[in-house]
Amino acid sequence: MNKAHRQKKAFQFSSLTIDETGNLSLESFLREFPQDSYSCPSHQSTGSMSRNFCYSSPLPEHRYLATPSSWTSDRPPRPKSPWGCLDPYTTEDQDREYVGFATLPNQVHRKSVKKGFEFTLMVVGESGLGKSTLVNSLFLTDLYKDRKVLNAEERLAQTVGITKNTVCIEEKGVKLKLNIVDTQGYGDTINSTDSYKCVSDYIDCQFEQYRRDEIGLDRKNIQDNRVHCCLYFISPFGHGLRPLDVECMRALQDKVNIIPVVAKSDGLTYDEVKKKKIRILSEIDKYRLKIYQFPDCDSDEDEEFRRQDMELKRSVPFAVIGSNMMVDVNGRWIRARLYPWGVVEVENPYHSDFVHLRNMLVRTHMQDLKDMTHDTHYESYRAQLLCRSQHTDVDYDFCHTTI
Ligand code: GDP
Repeated sequence: MNKAHRQKKAFQFSSLTIDETGNLSLESFLREFPQDSYSCPSHQSTGSMSRNFCYSSPLPEHRYLATPSSWTSDRPPRPKSPWGCLDPYTTEDQDREYVGFATLPNQVHRKSVKKGFEFTLMVVGESGLGKSTLVNSLFLTDLYKDRKVLNAEERLAQTVGITKNTVCIEEKGVKLKLNIVDTQGYGDTINSTDSYKCVSDYIDCQFEQYRRDEIGLDRKNIQDNRVHCCLYFISPFGHGLRPLDVECMRALQDKVNIIPVVAKSDGLTYDEVKKKKIRILSEIDKYRLKIYQFPDCDSDEDEEFRRQDMELKRSVPFAVIGSNMMVDVNGRWIRARLYPWGVVEVENPYHSDFVHLRNMLVRTHMQDLKDMTHDTHYESYRAQLLCRSQHTDVDYDFCHTTI
């Protein structure tokens, strides 16, 4: 290639040329390589003309992938994206070369939406602390229609019973199968020492069921009944945590994500809520109890997200209010509690932390709670089991709990 040619921005190999628009001259090519002079490697002739050279015409798509834009002025328009407005490629990207894997999140999204989501929430606390009312308020359902409230005599004879209610909710085409595990009778008896044992066994039992399903034959349709989150109800009337609260949290802390809530906080003044929260947090610290830790904010999150995240973390333990009643407040029907002196609105952030709790549970941290359950609590259960079976050569069976 001489200087003059270089100025014309043309390449020439022997007499084969690629001109400045990038087009390969067919005439030059045929002149240089007559038809009998090239063949595919599998059909190579043994003649002296064989140059071990294969020229296969690229498919039109290959040409567009491999050639600079100046070579592809005759390119047909790209087919319309099946993702419509969700297509991550903007119209400015139309002229750029791309493979298309930026749509991978969309594919995952579509598959997950089709499959639906599952979440298991456990509520632990004494009877009458407002557990069922709060669950109904959180998910706008009536999960406890058929519940029979026992009298004092019946409760004396009762042991802790675990009940599971399932409800399927659909919102904007997204389906959620919600399991609520209630611990009826917890802390109700005079000697409640073993109240939490039954709760802890139930959690282990779900881990064991999942482990067996995982090593079983039909791994495709495993039902995940593991408990992803435990709302631990703390009485608003005592002074911080009671001994039973400490013991129960200690027994559950390595099995489930515990989120402490101060029940019926409308019975407390603003200052009382503040003091109670400080006391509960200091006791959690003192007894080295592990509660669910919110993940740190990513460095690329915007200011608003960071502010909300900070507010959420400051709300722990969430001071909550529940209600099954709809009240007309200035022409708006809202979930509230009606008192002779006024109305307490469940979803008003000035009245309680209910909104923060719901946002966290459903909108922002549901997937993290599930990930923590799988990656930390379930893995630790499996590791312990493996350790024990290695030492004793016994297959452990933790499923004693019947519902
Ligand atoms: P559970 O036994 O823990 O499930 O408690 P319930 O949800 O059945 O509630 C027991 C009683 O407390 C009912 O009379 C509820 O109306 C009332 N209650 C529920 N939530 C609240 C609340 O946030 N504040 C007040 N003051 N009362 C509540």
